[in-house]
Amino acid sequence: MPLRLSRETRLIKKGSKQVELFNLKDETDSVSFAEAVKKGLGKHQGLYFPKQFSVFDNIDEILAKPFVERSVEILSRLIGDEMPREQIQGIVEKAFVFDAPLAKVTDNVYCLELFHGPTLAFKDFGGRFMAQVLSVIAQGEPITILTATSGDTGAAVAHAFHGLDNINVVILYPKGKISLLQEKLFTTLGDNIHTVSIDGDFDACQQLVKTAFDDADVREGLHLNSANSINISRLLAQVCYYFEAVSQLTDAQRSDLVISVPSGNFGNLTAGMIAKVMGLPIKKFIACTNANDTVPRYLKTGEWSPNPTVATLSNAMDVSQPNNWPRIEALIERGEIDKSMLVGDAVDEQYTQLAMKQLAQLGYISEPHAAIAYRALTRVLEDHETGIFLGTAHPAKFRESVETILGQPISLPQPLADCAGKEILSAQLSSDYAQLKQHMFSILKS
Ligand SMILES: *Cc1c(COP(=O)(O)O)cnc(C)c1O
Repeated sequence: MPLRLSRETRLIKKGSKQVELFNLKDETDSVSFAEAVKKGLGKHQGLYFPKQFSVFDNIDEILAKPFVERSVEILSRLIGDEMPREQIQGIVEKAFVFDAPLAKVTDNVYCLELFHGPTLAFKDFGGRFMAQVLSVIAQGEPITILTATSGDTGAAVAHAFHGLDNINVVILYPKGKISLLQEKLFTTLGDNIHTVSIDGDFDACQQLVKTAFDDADVREGLHLNSANSINISRLLAQVCYYFEAVSQLTDAQRSDLVISVPSGNFGNLTAGMIAKVMGLPIKKFIACTNANDTVPRYLKTGEWSPNPTVATLSNAMDVSQPNNWPRIEALIERGEIDKSMLVGDAVDEQYTQLAMKQLAQLGYISEPHAAIAYRALTRVLEDHETGIFLGTAHPAKFRESVETILGQPISLPQPLADCAGKEILSAQLSSDYAQLKQHMFSILKS
């Protein structure tokens, strides 16, 4: 996926704190933060991305601040003068209402637990931040959020937007390819949350979303907005928990840090790289996947050749055409990230299960996504280094497979227990676009 940027786009305008974002497929399509959030995708389905990132020269001071205060600082830099600081503060205070603790697994290995939000997955950070941003910038204009989920995005988006005025949400997900509990967490809310189970895989759902955004009838008629990991606001929110992770380490640990990111669409890794560009001391990233290993193969061979998506235990990572990759490519192309600090690794089903068992023996109960990151980390980490693997979901979200693999019962945390008995309200459709279009107009235009 070659990407060429002209010199002009790399020039930093002196004195201006206005952050400009541009379309990675068309440099002339350049927008403000608010426009990028509202549009989601640009022309030719291109992703918006800031032209440059501001670098902290006082990183220790930043790390010493409490989570919310520090996050306001980071997001003010990322968003720029366009949004008053007090507004960003209000948004962050409503969005980041839970912690991201580091759990110690061995002397030099930690899990960054990103699953203490209302839907027990890291996507709560991006989903809640985006919902709050949109409700501020939409100023009462009606909006339809259309998004595809392979599991957790849907839940995070549904809960983040549930009950917000003037915002309707339509969520597509692959029928039968997510766990029943995962499904219940976002399909039982009702009100402004409309869910559709699609006869196809996640890539088919993602394609439907892209087609809808290309369809002016739907895009303009329903004021479409995407809330999946391509929306820039979600990505910027996620930068904050990388700082939170490092803030919990000692100075010595910070100097030799490897972070392992279990990846599907690669939004999480993109956010980590932005944190690195802003000055966070991270020595190495591991881009790990399950058998859907397009990126690890690409890093090894230089060839971008996605295979058909296969179903795995870590189903939120069952993505063979990761839609955030062009942003990582841009960071590398612009010289902001050195490619040699990125290690790719794919972990198969057998090793995923083995890693879960090894973690359990160390006294840490985990689930398949985090286990992949742990496994990849143990292959790369040297004794003098400190390793963090991202705990992207609570083990109870994948209770069926966790209980089978570990042979022990997992108790349900409250949010899951609450929805387990409720009825699934989803419509069911084929992967035919015309049907989806008709369905959307019938539920939203009445
Ligand atoms: C979404 C998700 C991932 C993958 O994150 P990306 O940002 O899409 O790479 C990993 N683990 C879990 C549990 C997820 O829900």
